[in-house]
Amino acid sequence: MNLQLEAQEDVLAHLKQRLAHCRETFETANQIITLSAKIETLKSNHDDLKNLDSDNLQDHLTMLANKQRDIERLEWRDRNASCENKLTLPFGKHKDHCVEAVWEHDPGYIVWLAGFRPALNGSRPETHSNNANFPSNVKQLAKSLIRGTCYSCHDELDTDEAWKTFCSSCYKELKMK
Ligand SMILES: [Zn+2]
Repeated sequence: MNLQLEAQEDVLAHLKQRLAHCRETFETANQIITLSAKIETLKSNHDDLKNLDSDNLQDHLTMLANKQRDIERLEWRDRNASCENKLTLPFGKHKDHCVEAVWEHDPGYIVWLAGFRPALNGSRPETHSNNANFPSNVKQLAKSLIRGTCYSCHDELDTDEAWKTFCSSCYKELKMK
């Protein structure tokens, strides 16, 4: 009698476990169904986007890019015009731009032209030799422009001693890297 009861309880426990497992499976299945529906929605939205007049969109983007380039060209024309030193760059992303104007609008590039990176090598700024073939008057001007400024944030330093190349906060920050 007792044995039979125990056996029955075992079966019951087993069935309960199976039931719990079934519930889990059922929930997972439900989640999968919900997610599939979401994916389908996303897919059809994407198809809608694809069906947007893509040629038109492309033309529009090209036009915007051209306008942007025209505006930049005009801006640089003004910047070049207001430079005292008319030395321009013969190469690179700032081709035909005055070195002085580049210093004002993209100072990191001038630091790089001068042969430095905004990083430390010991306690000195890291150098590179990618500028080996740059015209020497460009390098000279770049060096004189960055003198007395921080090679990293380009703020003016309180001294124009040649050894001083980073402000104290940039120096601290670079030292930690
Ligand atoms: Zn700095």
